[in-house]
Amino acid sequence: MRIAIKGTGQLARMMALAGWPLGYSFAFFGSKQENTSCIEGLGDIIFLEDHADIDSLYDALGKPDVITVEKEEVDTTLLRKLQQHCPIYPDPDVIDICRHRGKEKNWINEQGIPTANYRVTANRDDIIAALNSFSSSAILKTCSGGYDGYNQWRLKTEQDIQDLDDSVCVQDCVMEEMVNFSTEVSVIAARNSKGEVAVYPVTENYHRRGTLLISEAPAPDLSEELEAEAQRMIATLLNASNYVGVLAMECFVTENGLVVNELAPRVHNSGHWTMNAGIASQFENHLRAITGMPLGNTKPAKAGGMVNLLGVDVTAKDALGEDAYLHLYNKSVKPNRKMGHINLQADDSESLKAQLNALAKQVYGDDI
Ligand code: ADP
Ligand code: MG
Repeated sequence: MRIAIKGTGQLARMMALAGWPLGYSFAFFGSKQENTSCIEGLGDIIFLEDHADIDSLYDALGKPDVITVEKEEVDTTLLRKLQQHCPIYPDPDVIDICRHRGKEKNWINEQGIPTANYRVTANRDDIIAALNSFSSSAILKTCSGGYDGYNQWRLKTEQDIQDLDDSVCVQDCVMEEMVNFSTEVSVIAARNSKGEVAVYPVTENYHRRGTLLISEAPAPDLSEELEAEAQRMIATLLNASNYVGVLAMECFVTENGLVVNELAPRVHNSGHWTMNAGIASQFENHLRAITGMPLGNTKPAKAGGMVNLLGVDVTAKDALGEDAYLHLYNKSVKPNRKMGHINLQADDSESLKAQLNALAKQVYGDDI
């Protein structure tokens, strides 16, 4: 079985590392500007600039049986052309929804699942009208091209909006009402082409300056009702879109239940703990799903968590411990860059939390 991945970063790397033991081979494709250090040695690397027509690109990829993506910011027109040669999972139509915050929220609401109140905006007047219609302050996000807290502006007053650059206001954006939440959680699930769904335990997530720092599963403070609610919500989204592959759903935990923040039609940073949890990892289950295989176990016996290595140069000597597992992405260090992560396992949530916090402190000192 040959798999082509659009993208050349750490998620592509970890998919390939999960696929090699299954006997799968890989090709990666992207533009020449993209850094390929993460995927070196893991398969063929094909540059779009070298292939003007789609048949030549498909041949260069080694005629893959299936194509997948490592991020939602992709040229879906190109994917649709490749779809004439082999299946693309997740389907480009779903990727198109998830790469546009306005379409995504609308679609989630159509499935009867709550999001923050929001309005799509295209100019300063729209943004002001949206703020006035909300009962609290707001967050403006570009509909596409935002990640790790970039391309977002927190707006409390009309003056904040007047202070925004014109270049921001004229973009397609969503204005969202600020949600009053206790914690942020995510849920990751896989669905294969037979319609089987496997859901991982809900994960609690902590961010540092907009970027995920620590994940902890099962989410320690989540009630059984909300755990079940999260699982029901993601299954609804997967089935409604006839989804194939792994989907991640980020949620706010509020007094009134879960509010969905955003979806990622791919493997997700908050699911990296699954790699060392004694179960099928999110990467393996994504590959199983897109190659029509039965899904693997998603129910770990122990508590599992992860600390992201952001802009720090950590080596095996510094990181490995009896229950600590290191994953490096083969990147050179830059400030805040995702260099790798460390997974931990513990018998219970309390001891996991203590170990995760101690590890984060060891890596970042007081800069958490
Ligand atoms: P990104 O694609 O950059 O991850 P998110 O929509 O997840 O964008 O926003 C980043 C962070 O900003 C969230 O993890 C959350 O902490 C905060 N945030 C986003 N939207 C809201 C909201 N409507 N109410 C409160 N906090 C929010
Ligand atoms: Mg997010």
